[in-house]
Amino acid sequence: MIKFLDLEKINNRFRSEIDDRIKTVLDKGWYLQGSENETFTKHFADFCGTRYCVGVANGLDALCLLIKASGFGPGDEIIVPSNTYIATILSISYNGCTPVLVEPDMNTYNIDVNKIEEKITAKTKAILVVHLYGQAVQMNKVKALAEKYHLKVFEDCAQAHGALYENTRVGNLSDGGAFSFYPGKNLGCFGDGGAVVTNDEDLYKKVKAMANYGSDFKYHFIYKGINSRLDELHAAVLDVKLRYLDEDNAKRRNIADYYRANINNEELILPKTYAPLAHVYHVFAIRTKKRDALVEYLKHKEIQTLIHYPIPPHKQEAYREWNELSYPLSEEIHNTILSIPMSPVLTDAEVEYIVTALNNFHS
Ligand SMILES: *Cc1c(COP(=O)(O)O)cnc(C)c1O
Repeated sequence: MIKFLDLEKINNRFRSEIDDRIKTVLDKGWYLQGSENETFTKHFADFCGTRYCVGVANGLDALCLLIKASGFGPGDEIIVPSNTYIATILSISYNGCTPVLVEPDMNTYNIDVNKIEEKITAKTKAILVVHLYGQAVQMNKVKALAEKYHLKVFEDCAQAHGALYENTRVGNLSDGGAFSFYPGKNLGCFGDGGAVVTNDEDLYKKVKAMANYGSDFKYHFIYKGINSRLDELHAAVLDVKLRYLDEDNAKRRNIADYYRANINNEELILPKTYAPLAHVYHVFAIRTKKRDALVEYLKHKEIQTLIHYPIPPHKQEAYREWNELSYPLSEEIHNTILSIPMSPVLTDAEVEYIVTALNNFHS
C-alpha cells in the first residue's frame, strides 16, 4: 500500500535528534513560554525573512489573531478566495467580519487576482490570500490594489511553508502571515501548532499579547485576549524539522517534476506552476471528470488518495446563508480535484508505480 502521507516515516528520519531535544525540555522542566519557543520563533522568522514571529496554538488561531489584532470586526469586509480550506473563511466570521468570496484562477487554483477589484466596497478592510496546495499567490496585483484602496493584506500560509514569490518567502509578502504546524503540513509537529509572522512591530506585540490572555507582562492585561500558545515540546520538535524543510521541499519539487514529465493521460489535468520555486507541493492535486472511477481504480492498485476538498465552503451547512449562491469555478475544482501521494519520503519505485498506474487508467 502506498500511503497518501507516511507521517511516521517522515518523522522517524529525525528521531534521534528529536528524542534529544525532547529530553532537554523534560530535563529543564519548563513547558510554556520558554527558551524553546524563543529559539524556534527566531529561527522561523529568519526562515521567512520577517522581523517577528509569534508561536500560537494552531493555524486557525494564527489567522483569527491577525484579523483581531488589526482591529477588524463587525461591519468590516475581508476578501478571501472561494476555493480554500474552510478555516480561512472561519477566521473572518469568527471576528464578526464579512467574508467576500472571490473565484479562483484555473491555472493556479489560487484567488483570481483580476477578480478582486470588482469586490472592493467602502467596507472592505483587507485581502486575505491563501497560497493553496503550496503555490505562492502572484502578489504584485494584490499589493497594488491594497495600496490603491488602503487595504491590509494577510496571507494564509498553512500549506506553503517556504514557497517563494519573486525571491521572497510567503509570510513576508504582506502585513502578516499565518502558518499551521498541523502534523500533515510541510512543517508539522506532533499535534496542533501555528505561528504568525510579520514585519510590523505593533501588530507583533498585539498578536503576542492577545495570544497570551491579552497580557503584555505577567498578571498585567491590556486586551481581552485568548490562550493560544505554542508549547515548548512542539517548539523544540519544529526547530529540529525546520532545518530540513528546504531539502524536503526540494524533494517534493523533484517528484512533482517527475509526475509532470511522465504522467501522460488525456483524462487527467496536472497542476501548473508559474515559477519553479513558487510551489512547495503540499499536495499534488490533479483534476479529472472521472474522479470516482479513478479513486476506485487507485484503491484497487493500493494507492491512497485524498480530496482537497470535496465540498466548497459556500455549500457547507455552517454557511447555510450561502448555500444557494453559485461559485462555478470553485465548484468545478471541488468536483474534479484529487490529490495523489506526495511527500519527501516517497521512493523512486513508488513514484514510478504511481505514474504507471495513472497512465494505464482508462474509464
Ligand atoms: C490547515 C489549514 C488551516 C488551519 O490550520 P490548523 O492548524 O489546522 O488550525 C488554515 N488554512 C489552510 C489553507 C489550511 O490548509
